[in-house]
Amino acid sequence: TRNSPLVLRPGIAEAPIYVPGAHGDEKDGVPPAVLSANENPLGPSPQALDAYRGSAALERYPDGGAEKLRAAIGEKFGLDPARIVCGAGSDELITLLIRCYVGPGDEVLQSQHGFLMYAITAKTVGASAVLAPETPDLLCDVDAMLAAVTDRTRICFVANPNNPTGTYIPASELRRLREGLRADILLAVDAAYSEYVDADDYSDGADLVRDYDNVVMLRTFSKAFGLAALRVGWCYAPAAVVDALNRVRSPFNVSVPAQVAGVAALGDAAHLDRSLRENKEQRARLVGALSQLGLSITPSVTNFLLVHFADATSASAANAHLSAKGVIVRSVAAYGLPASLRMTVGTAEENDRLLSALTDFLA
Ligand code: PMP
Repeated sequence: TRNSPLVLRPGIAEAPIYVPGAHGDEKDGVPPAVLSANENPLGPSPQALDAYRGSAALERYPDGGAEKLRAAIGEKFGLDPARIVCGAGSDELITLLIRCYVGPGDEVLQSQHGFLMYAITAKTVGASAVLAPETPDLLCDVDAMLAAVTDRTRICFVANPNNPTGTYIPASELRRLREGLRADILLAVDAAYSEYVDADDYSDGADLVRDYDNVVMLRTFSKAFGLAALRVGWCYAPAAVVDALNRVRSPFNVSVPAQVAGVAALGDAAHLDRSLRENKEQRARLVGALSQLGLSITPSVTNFLLVHFADATSASAANAHLSAKGVIVRSVAAYGLPASLRMTVGTAEENDRLLSALTDFLA
């Protein structure tokens, strides 16, 4: 960007580039245990895979309105399809919301260790990200969020549950946040990991979207539904936001394979159940074993754990040791958590490899 005669829009040169979790390489014929990107270790529903493979008319454009996918989402979650917009992953919807509502000099508000893409995307439009401090337990602190609101605040993003902390805030707190925000500030509840949560006091934000005209909910097929490669997410929003998103999105933003696999994945409740059940079992097992190893873990309602080491040196040495053993986890130094690592809950066999590599690291 530096030596170019082109006039780059303000903010873009300063925006950090998002570095995705690595997927590692095969070593001596053994594939890596990929525990770095919060994907479903069981993969997608076999029905979704069949639908994907059957979607072969590559010369045809997709349905730009994703009618069938929106209808299937509406049916599965009890929502009005007219209030749903699909995107190329929820990442695209974050970008589209920011394009609609945030401009140069504006502010996007999130919590200190909230998902990085909100802040990065805000910077690309010349806006700034305001990070509100969290509670000592790494929970979104609603009072701190409200105290950080200014005249320039345009969107407040809350991932519930949050990545990389794995924590959630109760429905009453989410509602209190919405009630404390001005009507001209959009509350975006990013519920990418909501399928994994079984707490009674949890809300994915859909109830707030029904009650208020300045709340949206973001969801994805990348996590529990196991379709990260296909890039498909969706937003449930008030009619005016749906209208704005449909004006700015590209006309064919969700591919045919993504649409048909999404519909099929929604139809396979058994695969989803199994994914959630195995995640819960393996998460409990990992929490127990990691605690036995003397590590502290932030309580997680998701498919990943934030694991704390003595200091940054120890966390990066652990990361290097795991990687050398073919176990790929995620550094969260970019989130300001250099003494911690984020570990996706894998299959029983992947978790065995993680635990055995960590056991000899700590020995
Ligand atoms: N929101 C959160 C909280 C996430 O962790 C992720 C995945 N890293 C996303 C959104 C984006 O997911 P996708 O674009 O694959 O839907």
